[in-house]
Amino acid sequence: MTHTPANTQPYPFAKRVPAIPPIGAAQASSRSDTIPLSFGAPHSDTFPYDALNDAASEAILSQGRDALQYAGASGPSFLLDWIAARSARRAINVEPSQVLLTYGSQQAIDFAARTLLDPGDHAWVEAPTYFGAVSTFRTAEAVLTSFPIDADGLQTDEVEAALRAAVKTGKPIPKLLYVMPNFHNPGGVSLSLERRKKLAELAVEFNFFILEDDAYTELAFEEQALPSIYSFAPERVVYLSTFSKTIAPGIRLGWAIGSRDVISRMNTFFQGSKASVFSQEIVAQLLKKLPFEEHIAKLNGLYRANRDAMVSALKQYFGDDVRFEVPGGGFFVWLEFREDVDTSQFVQDAYERGVSFIHGKQFFVKPEGARFARLSFSYCDEERIHNGVKLLADAYYAYVDN
Ligand code: PMP
Repeated sequence: MTHTPANTQPYPFAKRVPAIPPIGAAQASSRSDTIPLSFGAPHSDTFPYDALNDAASEAILSQGRDALQYAGASGPSFLLDWIAARSARRAINVEPSQVLLTYGSQQAIDFAARTLLDPGDHAWVEAPTYFGAVSTFRTAEAVLTSFPIDADGLQTDEVEAALRAAVKTGKPIPKLLYVMPNFHNPGGVSLSLERRKKLAELAVEFNFFILEDDAYTELAFEEQALPSIYSFAPERVVYLSTFSKTIAPGIRLGWAIGSRDVISRMNTFFQGSKASVFSQEIVAQLLKKLPFEEHIAKLNGLYRANRDAMVSALKQYFGDDVRFEVPGGGFFVWLEFREDVDTSQFVQDAYERGVSFIHGKQFFVKPEGARFARLSFSYCDEERIHNGVKLLADAYYAYVDN
């Protein structure tokens, strides 16, 4: 048999696809006992395991082979109704036809970016922001600019000043602004009501779209989340959420909500098919039986206890040497160290001691943020969280004392 000779020529891959692995990936190590405070994954005890098992077999038995076809059976339309009804809690009043189910909310970010942005268009993001969205905007060939957050979320006065200055000086204004309103990843903070209204007003005045990523909205430990930005400017917001944090990320179902116009444009990427219909059939069966409020209350009980364990360990082992806002929900605590600290300098040592975290620079689109670090309290249990923070403190003090 003859073989085609190996091709040694370099291939000119599309420049929009980076050659480097995605940021945020945990470091490789031979240790198997590392406490992964870097993982922004749900705790597997929160998965409604037995109920999902029943729902999967119910999906097959009650819906038959239709459940396995491109269009699915009754599941997809049940879910659109369910999501539209549930969204009323964020003051979102929509028809089921304004909901688009996607393969996780990550795909909704991609569809929205490709619908709203041409190559070279400007997208504004938060500093820090979610790196999964940043890499999607980059592959949509957007030009990125970032604006700081504080304890009340995105600093809208800075956004407003930049918009007015851009109009005055003829600089480009954004076509899209990406914001996480509740329990920010990585910041842990939520956007105040006043700022939500302000952002909606700015989107209308300057004619850009807000991409409102509300992945953590159900994970509220103290009080319910505020009305969505969408509710203040429904024609200029695409609202996103997901079942990844409330049911399980492995089912890969998220959604976008928007005007009929934007949703029908985003839907063209499916080419007549739908997102994971079999998952939709299973989740529909699940939601028909599962007492959802009870499920959410249980899950938030677990995450609240984890958050409390992390906060008390941080106070115990770091005292005043680290600053953070106590998150009212979600998965993350965002640590701010002294000005001269570079957290990337002790990632490896922390890892060798047995704990992982994500260093700050990875959450910014500009070279900044070295003194920050993201810890997740979602994935590990309380004892491991406590021990992980202790190991982190050992690594930190070894770094600063050096
Ligand atoms: N947005 C944010 C802010 C996230 O943290 C995540 C998950 N890490 C996603 C979107 C994507 O989630 P999924 O695709 O699983 O719905």
